[in-house]
Amino acid sequence: MVELRRIYLEESAEIIYLKADAIIQGEKQSLWYATARENKDYISTSNADAFILFIFIYCVFENLEFKSNVPISKRLKFGLVEVLLPIFQEMGFKTTKEMFDLKLEDETKYPEASAIGTAMSFGVDSFFSYIKGRESINKINYLTLFNAGAFGQYGGEKALGLFEAMKLKVIDFASQNKLGFVWVNTNLNEVFKMPFVQTHTFRNFACVLVFQKLFKGYYYASGINIKNFKLNKLDPAYYDLINAKAIAANSLELYISGLTENRIEKTRAISDNEVTFRNLNVCLITPDNKNLNSENNAPNCSKCFKCARTMVTLDILGKLDNFSDVFDLKVFNKNKFKYLAELKYKQYRSNDVLAKEIFNEAKTKGYNIPIKVYYYTVLRIFQPIIRKINNA
Ligand SMILES: [Zn+2]
Repeated sequence: MVELRRIYLEESAEIIYLKADAIIQGEKQSLWYATARENKDYISTSNADAFILFIFIYCVFENLEFKSNVPISKRLKFGLVEVLLPIFQEMGFKTTKEMFDLKLEDETKYPEASAIGTAMSFGVDSFFSYIKGRESINKINYLTLFNAGAFGQYGGEKALGLFEAMKLKVIDFASQNKLGFVWVNTNLNEVFKMPFVQTHTFRNFACVLVFQKLFKGYYYASGINIKNFKLNKLDPAYYDLINAKAIAANSLELYISGLTENRIEKTRAISDNEVTFRNLNVCLITPDNKNLNSENNAPNCSKCFKCARTMVTLDILGKLDNFSDVFDLKVFNKNKFKYLAELKYKQYRSNDVLAKEIFNEAKTKGYNIPIKVYYYTVLRIFQPIIRKINNA
């Protein structure tokens, strides 16, 4: 059982906290979201939506009862109880409507909320959302960065270090492009210890719900094409279309961008836009990244599978030269056949969708795949066997 008791604001010199007292499985816990003090006026306190969404997901996954003594926005209550819960039941979760006691409703609307936001992490998905969103009817004018699990699913010092480094980069990028910027840190990762991949959409949307007086719209980058829509317990990206419909507040809507474009089309869309030439950063930013420098940045290593895949795609599209500031093209040219072989191997071995798309595009473009690539692919297929023989 989880009980949400009250929410309140607490300030320090530079930071404002939106805090909540909760009882989780009999234990008293203090939950918080934090942001820069200058964002104080954007924080909505008429409801506890930011906490309620997170706790709702936790209770569904853990099959626990949830009682809130703080109001929930009427729109979010509708979305969680009447849209999302039946979907979770369809997926096999046992939680029922009766397990959620969300009696107090908030009907406050925030007409001052006018910003349209999206997250910026300098990868392909993120830039695609940004570039498309800048041309949209609902034009993006705000960037966000949330320490909601992407830098380390259970939070901690290392994740915070990566988050702080990325924050400096986004602040620079936002000011160069005349955009607003808000960040959120939270202790919910540490308290609830939910796996990130199964919950990423909900964690990010929860952070957006902190700012109901700022945002009227928010784009979340889709990781999965709509053709692959599926009720998949293991990754909400497969059913994000429902999540975006269910999760909203009285004057805030969430959108999913990039539902119909595949990876190649997304890469193509960003590859001619100058804003990406010096900023594209696809190398995985986690505490395990060996390329992580002392400033906690991980410039593209040009060697890992994410860098290799992106460089191969850009090369097929004939755009790799645009990115000579962020990728080491010498490393690429030296290893190109091996990178292609690794992708071919993935296509054969696990029917990898992204690899398949890449080779389809190569075919369309008449991109030459020399015989040596197939030779490396065969080597790659037998590599584990050779290792086994050596170890015998
Ligand atoms: Zn890399």
